[in-house]
Amino acid sequence: MSKSISKKIISWYCKYQRNLPWRNYKNLKDRQYKVLVSEFMLQQTQVNTVIPFFNAFYKKYKNIQSLSKTSNTRILKSWQGLGFYRRAKNLHATSKIICQKHKGIIPSNYKGLITLPGVGDYTAKAILAIAYDKPFLGIDGNIKRLVSRIFLLNSSKNFLNKLKTKVESLIINKNNSELMQGLMEFGALICKPNNPLCTKCPISNECQTYKKGKLNIKKKFKKINNKNYFVIVSKKKNKYLMTYKHELGPLKEFINFPIFVKKYSIKNSIKKFKFNNLKYIKKIKIPISNQNCNLFLYSASTTNKKLIKDYMYVNKNQLEKKFQSSFVKKIMEAIK
Ligand code: SF4
Repeated sequence: MSKSISKKIISWYCKYQRNLPWRNYKNLKDRQYKVLVSEFMLQQTQVNTVIPFFNAFYKKYKNIQSLSKTSNTRILKSWQGLGFYRRAKNLHATSKIICQKHKGIIPSNYKGLITLPGVGDYTAKAILAIAYDKPFLGIDGNIKRLVSRIFLLNSSKNFLNKLKTKVESLIINKNNSELMQGLMEFGALICKPNNPLCTKCPISNECQTYKKGKLNIKKKFKKINNKNYFVIVSKKKNKYLMTYKHELGPLKEFINFPIFVKKYSIKNSIKKFKFNNLKYIKKIKIPISNQNCNLFLYSASTTNKKLIKDYMYVNKNQLEKKFQSSFVKKIMEAIK
């Protein structure tokens, strides 16, 4: 049964696949490079969000060599807006290793791929299947949902082992690239999380969940956390006090306003910077993934000419050239 499902998925995919930029390539090397970049970008991000970033990124870095030769800051700047910046750093580190240790060729075996920064089990298998047409299938969220429904697997004991076995039973010797992409595409467009299109589904005859009427859709609600931050906005002759030592996440590459997680840090900074006054301006909200950030903005001024280590006054033009988080732009808009 599994092989007939695979064949149906492949023929569906050949007919209905979306025209995505990483699916168009000049040659095999270009295809492998595009698959690598797109797989990094697609980790935790949806296809439609990735498309414009992928296009702009590919325009700048057309192959693994050009990617490896550029600076970390430039890569991060090109990634700006896509979020989860660790992926950009990992992709850059991976491109360097590929150029230094693999003569610029993306490894075509699991052992070679899995040791690269940012490449886990799923990404390694996806690259092998999609870029090299090898008999592997990575399990992403779409494939997990689709296969669980086809074989009526419930999340009971041994679910992951059962899922793995069923996914592996779908592997075929030919056209595995189309199969992997087809399964993901089918999960995204037909066997959707909340409203699967069962009446239009070409594998409904094989689908155990559909045949037994067991489709049970539970909507998942993301828990949103609120987090407070305290921000100092200090302006001196069109320049703003900025730092890389803020308390907003672990990424030091972001330049930002001085941001603190504790309110007393704002008070302490009066002494540190010799601020003459500290005035509350307003509160703004910035949502990021599953967090609502409440930013309490304070204005402050100082006549102190000496700057403290790790802090600098930067004008808007200089800021544009740096790798700044979206927070900087939103704070700037709020204080206009
Ligand atoms: S019949 Fe419905 S639940 Fe089953 S695979 Fe098709 S779309 Fe998914």
